[in-house]
Amino acid sequence: MSEQDARINYTGSYEAEDVLRWSINTFSPSIKIACSFQNLVVVHMALQIDPDITIFAIDTGRLHEETYQCAEDLQRKLGVKIEWFFPKHEAVEPLEREKGLFSFKESVENRQECCHIRKVEPLKRALSDLDAWITGVRREQSTSRAGAGKIEVDHVHGGIVKINPIADWSWDRVQDYVREYDLPYNHLFDRGFLSVGCAPCTRPARAGEEPRAGRWWWEQAEHKECGLHNRNWNI
Ligand code: SF4
Repeated sequence: MSEQDARINYTGSYEAEDVLRWSINTFSPSIKIACSFQNLVVVHMALQIDPDITIFAIDTGRLHEETYQCAEDLQRKLGVKIEWFFPKHEAVEPLEREKGLFSFKESVENRQECCHIRKVEPLKRALSDLDAWITGVRREQSTSRAGAGKIEVDHVHGGIVKINPIADWSWDRVQDYVREYDLPYNHLFDRGFLSVGCAPCTRPARAGEEPRAGRWWWEQAEHKECGLHNRNWNI
């Protein structure tokens, strides 16, 4: 067992607020919230516990305007500053010059290359000095997320702790919370989107599809992760 594994001694009830309070009390100040603007439930809950907790986000350079607007609404309404991370221009410039602007549609390998440059590498930098990070991952989002734990050891990122406080929440419960607290939300959800990603790689989901079916819709379901949330060990 690593030193980090040994620090995990959660004895709470696994309700989202309890998990967040334990996480912040245990790991602060070496803990941040990753926000992808799917919803602001976890951000809002965490701010009630620690108004100074850092919220970070990755601007891939290909996001929807509605997502940027949601980020602005979050900053204005909840009074927080977002710590933005960007892809390295040394990687994006040769990619676009050599392969064009839509190479990700040509093969799974090209798509993973683009996701690595625009998402995975910036996330690695964002997490590099942390002991723990908090996400809004929910199990019902996709088959690949169905086994997500509320507290995991993130071996993809050096064995830090990954907290998914609303892993067991349904979309209806998320919407109820957003309405109850009148939170800003991503208006792509008014247009039939059930998941939010980069603009050229996300379309509204169709009836009966799982929420992330609109991501890289031209690929098979088993490839539909960008590397940000590869499987970890549940606690
Ligand atoms: S989602 Fe699409 S545009 Fe965004 S990083 Fe991945 S391949 Fe590139």
